[in-house]
Amino acid sequence: MLAKGRCCHQVEYLSKACDIETFAYLATVGVSKNRLVDHQQCFQYPTCVAYNTDLDTYTTRHTNADCIFSMVSTPYKELTDLISQGKTPLISIEKGTDLNTRPRLRVFSRSKNSEYIAISHVCADGLGNPKENALPLCQVLQYSTI
Ligand SMILES: [Zn+2]
Ligand SMILES: [Zn+2]
Repeated sequence: MLAKGRCCHQVEYLSKACDIETFAYLATVGVSKNRLVDHQQCFQYPTCVAYNTDLDTYTTRHTNADCIFSMVSTPYKELTDLISQGKTPLISIEKGTDLNTRPRLRVFSRSKNSEYIAISHVCADGLGNPKENALPLCQVLQYSTI
């Protein structure tokens, strides 16, 4: 499991939490190529540190290194207004009205009928932005169905 990229702490946990058959099966399962993270340093700590982020040196990742797309921002005032009202903001991607109009992010209040996806570990996957609520347009388009 370690050779396949699993964390030593995850392997230790699974060895205690699973029966031998389940553990043997999990040992055959590879790690997603989208989540390749180096867990070598985790051996030196009591818990996994591979997803820890140094916000001073962090850079938001584009879908490829040569990308020239700019950032798309979440309307910050609308976002904070909803939070101030005790509501839960959701963010959607609104496509442009034509091919020349960039998609933009729109904020709306969650209702009991809202369907949404929560994305976690955004910094570990390069989708964090410690400076503003914005992502490269290429990343936004990757998660959009438009
Ligand atoms: Zn780890
Ligand atoms: Zn990009």
